[in-house]
Amino acid sequence: MSLADLESKYPLIYTHCHPRGGPGWGALLEVLLDQLQARADSGGVQARALLTREKWGRLSLRFSPLDPADEAMVVYVEKLSMHICEVCGAPGTLIPEAWHRTRCNAHTEARPTWPTSDR
Ligand SMILES: [Zn+2]
Repeated sequence: MSLADLESKYPLIYTHCHPRGGPGWGALLEVLLDQLQARADSGGVQARALLTREKWGRLSLRFSPLDPADEAMVVYVEKLSMHICEVCGAPGTLIPEAWHRTRCNAHTEARPTWPTSDR
C-alpha cells in the first residue's frame, strides 16, 4: 500500500502533514497506524502525525498527541524500517553511503519514484 493510500485511510491521523516514503514501508506503517486509530476509536487519544518521511535512509515519525503507551511502538517501527527495502518491502539493509537508503539486493540503486517532499 502506498503511503498516499494510508493518508486517505487514516484521515484523523493525517490532518497536519502528508506521509512521504516508499511503498515498501506501507505495510509496516499501516500496522502502526491501525494500532493508533484503534486506540482513538476505543475512547483513547486521537494520535496526529506531525511527520512521516524518509530521513537518513529510514522512516522518521513524529506524532502529537500520542498516548505514552504507543511511544515504544513508534520507535520500534522506525528501527524496523532500517531492515525493510523502501522500494518493495523485502528484507533490506541500510546502506550508509552519502545517499543513505534501505534497500534489498535487487533495489540497491533504485531512486525514489514517489513524492519525497510535501512541499
Ligand atoms: Zn527491494
